[in-house]
Amino acid sequence: MSTKKIIIVGSGVAGLATSVRLAKRGFDVHVFESNAFPGGKINSANYGDYRFDRGPSVFTGPKYLKEIYDLCGEDFSEFEMVPLKTSFNYFFNDGLRLNLSNKRDEIIEEICSKLGEDRSTLEAYLDKAAKNYDAIAPMFIEASLHSWKNYTGKSFFKALSRITKYKLFSTMNEENQAAFKNPKTVQLFNRFASYNGSDPYQAPAMLNMIGHLEINQTPYLPKNGMIQITDSLYQLAQKFGVQFHFSERVIEILKEKNNVKGVKTEKGTYDADAVVSNMDVSFTYERLMQDVPRPEKTLQQEKSSSAVVFYWGIKKSFPELTLHNIFFTDDYKAEYEGIFKEKKVVDDPTIYINITSKYVKGDAPEGHENWFTMINSPVDIGQDWDTEIDRIRKNLIAKISKALGEDISQYIEMEEILDPRKIESMYHGKQGSIYGNASNNRYAAFRRHPNFSKQFNNLFFVGVSVHPGGVIPLALNSAKIACEYLEKRVN
Ligand SMILES: Cc1cc2nc3c(=O)[nH]c(=O)nc-3n(C[C@H](O)[C@H](O)[C@H](O)COP(=O)(O)OP(=O)(O)OC[C@H]3O[C@@H](n4cnc5c(N)ncnc54)[C@H](O)[C@@H]3O)c2cc1C
Repeated sequence: MSTKKIIIVGSGVAGLATSVRLAKRGFDVHVFESNAFPGGKINSANYGDYRFDRGPSVFTGPKYLKEIYDLCGEDFSEFEMVPLKTSFNYFFNDGLRLNLSNKRDEIIEEICSKLGEDRSTLEAYLDKAAKNYDAIAPMFIEASLHSWKNYTGKSFFKALSRITKYKLFSTMNEENQAAFKNPKTVQLFNRFASYNGSDPYQAPAMLNMIGHLEINQTPYLPKNGMIQITDSLYQLAQKFGVQFHFSERVIEILKEKNNVKGVKTEKGTYDADAVVSNMDVSFTYERLMQDVPRPEKTLQQEKSSSAVVFYWGIKKSFPELTLHNIFFTDDYKAEYEGIFKEKKVVDDPTIYINITSKYVKGDAPEGHENWFTMINSPVDIGQDWDTEIDRIRKNLIAKISKALGEDISQYIEMEEILDPRKIESMYHGKQGSIYGNASNNRYAAFRRHPNFSKQFNNLFFVGVSVHPGGVIPLALNSAKIACEYLEKRVN
């Protein structure tokens, strides 16, 4: 049993998962978190009578959380999840609505009957997404891409056999256009690019496998909302003796030759046998290791999208809305060009409304709803966000009101706003990017920073800004991979 001391910078979902894994292996783990609460972007806030999950709302890949429960000898059925009655409701500007159920077969039926697609085409498309995911995940998501061993094993050849079936230059949109007759179906499947903050008109077609996670599998919501994910990890961490230091920002990683030897925080200096950074990797270099040469090419990759979120307490209940609701733009291409090229939000952006009070009854007073109303946005490059937010707010209210047939502004009794500037300042995510790097080219997976340092033997990286990338399941895998390296290098 090792008593080596490990310091983790940050308690996002990846930092927490790392802390549990290492503590369970007998390390003496200390987590330093600049916020007063654990969880990073997966946190919760009460505004008046309403509770909101402030960040993520879609939980894919619960099996990666189960893996941690299993490792700890805990029963994953205690992490209670509610199967959703419906997956997504879609609203188009011309009045068409799609209500997608929680079953693949019924989803296919709805798309065929409302959008005129062929059942066999949809079935083949979704089967292919499943096969791609099963072949690609073990190599690109569940293992390091920075170890030669990964390029010689079975999973490499399985992944390679799927990749070579692709025209490597095709984008998600090109594959979807070739597959479907109706532009609305193309738009629906293009939307999965937004799940890791990418652009379907640039991202490689292989990413169409994301649809598999939502349509082929039953969608769930943790019983108490998304906060349950980080709450449960925090509880496991405490159970295995992890020590948390909240409201204590790390300001420097201390180094000696080819090793790191601890951290300096706003309050003191702490020794460690290894350091794991859950801080955005660009900021780790820029702010915590200023005197170290940076891997510029890796750090200069295009960032993922950011977001503007309006947390609205709504004093009415809307039966036509479900947990996840999308109000599509007519011009998806212009929306993405705005986000990634022009760095602006178009006048008619796609809106996502998440309403946990549909399932978690205490999240809003009886007859009221908690609307997490989000649009994807460019990262912060110094736009005049205050003016932008006024414009975006007006456009959102007009669009939703038109779709629902009444002025929703009269029902907003509470409002809080999150924008790219706040995302950067609250979570130290560079420019407010929410998923690290975008996957807007076919090399993106290979250009993410590894989960270890090439310069310092005992420095490791976890979280969405490093391999394997954005979203919760990938952040959980970053923890697993980093821990494997750490155990080899530090024991
Ligand atoms: C509005 C929004 C919606 C999203 N929707 C989804 C979704 O539906 N599904 C999904 O899977 N993902 C979604 N995401 C992305 C998701 O939040 C991330 O995938 C994941 O939570 C990131 O986890 P992380 O561990 O990488 O980092 P973070 O959550 O960013 O945590 C990093 C932590 O490190 C701390 N920290 C940083 N620097 C220091 C320092 N120097 N000293 C001390 N502490 C420090 C920060 O305070 C923070 O707590 C969304 C994000 C946002 C903001």
